[in-house]
Amino acid sequence: MNTRKVSIGSIEVGGGNPLRVQGMLKTSFEYPEKLYKEAEELADAGAELIRVAIPTAKDVGVYSILSGLSLPLIADCHFSGDIAEKALKAGFKKIRISPGNTSEKDIFEAFSLADSYGAALRVGFNSGSCGARDAEGIASQALEWDEKIQKAGYKNYLVSMKSSSVLDTVDANRFFSVRSDTPLHIGVTATGPRDDGILKSAVGLGALLIDGVGDTVRVSLTSDSLDEVRAGIRLKEISSGQHEGMEFISCPACSRNRINVKETLDELMSTLTETDMKKNISVAIMGCEVNGPGEASHCDIGLCGTRSGGLIIKKGKIMPGAKDGRVIERLIEEIRRL
Ligand code: SF4
Repeated sequence: MNTRKVSIGSIEVGGGNPLRVQGMLKTSFEYPEKLYKEAEELADAGAELIRVAIPTAKDVGVYSILSGLSLPLIADCHFSGDIAEKALKAGFKKIRISPGNTSEKDIFEAFSLADSYGAALRVGFNSGSCGARDAEGIASQALEWDEKIQKAGYKNYLVSMKSSSVLDTVDANRFFSVRSDTPLHIGVTATGPRDDGILKSAVGLGALLIDGVGDTVRVSLTSDSLDEVRAGIRLKEISSGQHEGMEFISCPACSRNRINVKETLDELMSTLTETDMKKNISVAIMGCEVNGPGEASHCDIGLCGTRSGGLIIKKGKIMPGAKDGRVIERLIEEIRRL
């Protein structure tokens, strides 16, 4: 389902554009160099949009610290229209604002100002601040606001509906997406510890992305911002079936395995260089003949455990002379030839 196109600085979202991964900064403004470095790392990892929380109006000065970045900056503003106004004047390309804690008057003033600056807004409905208890409540509020904003003539905005409940997040976004063409920023909020948060995000955001719902995404984790962006990029790749760089296909191993799959994969990943890992190829490491030859043949190259140690299958063909004890060295040589 195609949403309306929205411009956030130089980046277009919605309207058939690819999903954009957003990163959010966590470094204190007391450490400007560290803050800038964090933003640069997120951009290098593939973030296309950077959001920063602006707790008070005087904090909009952070824009000048980050303005050297080539990607659009988003100001996360709550409680007061004054912060949003100052952030727009400072140069932020998008404002995130919440009807749950900001007056209607302030929100429409922010829309009017954003319109004059060519900036975008995201109107956010979070279970923690919008007052709604379930998916229906969150989506109804979002749709009401969507209608009001469109009636006022504004189009350059996104909506988000986030809950700490994965099911409510999915239901609210699905409900909204079949009733409006407004682009959606998606995320599951307050996800808990890192590993659980990744699983919650994978289930909730994966379900939406596979349905074609979601134009920008932020994975929220109680962890480093780089973990969030990396998880967002992987979600994008997995849900679209597209992948940049090396992809590993490896079996879980079982009592049939003829090689130690985990040790082999660990050795391979620690030996390959950063340049090797940038190759757009798939590499299989499979423990035995049950599924090994098949999976390895579907990949660009694969190692399959056998009675005599292991064999390499490259582009569907068994490699000659690969049946020695150090088959992994041969595998690395062949990967470098691809
Ligand atoms: Fe077990 Fe072989 Fe399947 Fe790996 S490929 S999980 S070793 S049966």
